[in-house]
Order: sequence, then C-alpha cells, then structure tokens
Amino acid sequence: MIHTLNLPLDKQILNDRNISVSIFRGDLEHQDAPGNKWHKLRFNLEAASEQKAKYVISFGGPFSNHLHALGNVAKAHGVVPVAIVRGELHPKLTQTLRDFVHSGGILWPSRRIDYKAGMDSELVATLRRCYPDAYWVPEGGSNALGVKGCFDWAQEIDNQAQAQGGFDTWVVSAGTGATSAGLLAYEPEQGILSKKVKGDAPNILVFPALKGGEGLYVDIKRFALHQNPTTDTERLSIVGDYHHGGYAKLPKALKDYINRVHALNPSLELDPVYTAKVVYGLEQEIVKGNLKNKKLLLIHTGGIQGWCGYR
Ligand SMILES: *Cc1c(COP(=O)(O)O)cnc(C)c1O
Repeated sequence: MIHTLNLPLDKQILNDRNISVSIFRGDLEHQDAPGNKWHKLRFNLEAASEQKAKYVISFGGPFSNHLHALGNVAKAHGVVPVAIVRGELHPKLTQTLRDFVHSGGILWPSRRIDYKAGMDSELVATLRRCYPDAYWVPEGGSNALGVKGCFDWAQEIDNQAQAQGGFDTWVVSAGTGATSAGLLAYEPEQGILSKKVKGDAPNILVFPALKGGEGLYVDIKRFALHQNPTTDTERLSIVGDYHHGGYAKLPKALKDYINRVHALNPSLELDPVYTAKVVYGLEQEIVKGNLKNKKLLLIHTGGIQGWCGYR
C-alpha cells in the first residue's frame, strides 16, 4: 500500500520546494515478519531447505527485528532457528527473545567481545560442532541472498509505485545497507524489447540509523553491483546526519516527533530505531532546501516490534 505521508512541517514549504511525499507501507506486509527482514530471509531459507539444513543460525541483539522475523518464519520452512544473542541473557528475557523461544528457537548468549568477532568467535566454533548441519545467516540477514530478496521486493514496490505514476526518489533507512543495495540494484525493465531505459530507475536516498553511515557507500555499491553488474551507482546518496546519537538512541526530540507524525497519520506507526530517523531526516532535508522538485517515496521497513525495548 502507498499513501500520502503527512509531515509536521508547514505545507507551504512543500509547495515552495515542489515536493510530494508518499510512503510505501512495508510494515503492513507479511503478518509474521513485516518490513524488510522477511525479504532478506526468503532466499536464505530456500537455500537452507535445499541444503537440507536442520537449523538456521543467526546473530542479533536482544531486541533484534531480524531474530524476531527468523523465529516467526523458521518453522514454516522446516528448520529450527538458533540465535547467537549479543550480551548476557537476563533471567527475564526481552519480549523479542521470549517470542523466539516460544516459536521453538534456541538461544546462545555471546559475550560482546566474542560477538564482535563474528564468524571467527569461539562460540561459533562450538556451535559448528553442536549443529554440523546448520545454515548460517549473517547478522540482519545481510548477505548476497538478502540483497537478492530486497531486489525482488523493489519490483513489487515498483509495481505499486507505477500505479501512482512513479516516483523519482525512493527514501530508505539503513543498518548494514543490504536493503538499500537491493533497491539500488533494481532497474525497471521497459519497452517492447524489455530494454533497460536508463533514467527511469528511481534515485535511492539513504538515511543510516548508525553513526558513521557515510561509510556504507562502499558496502552498498559492492552489494548492488554483485546483484546487478550494470547498476548505475550514481543514483545512490547517503545523508548521515540523522542517526540521533547512534543505534537505538531515542532522544526526547525524536520521541516527540514520532508522536507528531502519528497524530497527522493515525494509521501509521514508526519504529524508534530506523524509520523514525528517516522521516525526521527527510523533513529536515526538505526544510533546509536540500531537496527540490521531487516526488518522493519513503519505504517503511517495519521494525515495530522493536518498541518492546523502550516501553
Ligand atoms: C534491519 C532494519 C533496517 C536496516 O536494514 P539493512 O538492510 O541492514 O540496511 C531498516 N529498517 C528496519 C525497520 C529494520 O529492522
């Protein structure tokens, strides 16, 4: 679903800048795994089935949207989800991890230093022995198959976007950048011979949720070119100024902003870690005059379950 996004700013500013803003409601897709995480998992779960894996092992924090999605969809794909969780587990699990366990998942706590070591950690070596027939998915589902899923997602988004006359820029949040890479790699096929028409593909405007997000340029371009070697990477821009102090930080100004957006769009909820920062950043960029003459489509990447870390 795509609808108008009402921003708290003065409507006259939108008129002056000749800007319209719509939102694609990825958060309303897939009941068990809304947003981008299902798209990143899809082809990974298919690969796990092909390999006849019994377990799918991945990584995440105690409020991870990725682990939540994995827990919810693993059973339907005939695999047991296993999570390597950043930090110690507390006797009272977070709602995210409780849900994971309720869906038959297994939790392995990981000391932060070990967690940082990723696939080189001692814990991973141990789990490789415990679960020899497992399929491994990196944190966030961000590998080439995750990008491929988002590339396919872009086709679905574009079908809806075309019904609204198309948009010149898609706006999206980033953690690892895999989602934006999939969207960037997508270029609509057009014309009677299905030849690609350069210039018809939307620009991709990325707002990272983490500090130092400008560093994602390299990763996003590499991922996108791997998915589609003819990707026009000039279409990518990253605005790194709106991380609000870094990952999972929710200063009062951002919290108030979320409430104001909700008041103007009663059907819309934003998540505190990713999508709220995109909407906030986008509004600021419009006010500053950095965006002009644009028909913008913001991609809601889900993450509403992440609120359990705040309320
Ligand atoms: C994980 C996540 C992202 C970031 O996706 P990447 O592919 O890592 O860039 C964005 N929004 C939400 C809601 C997420 O859960």
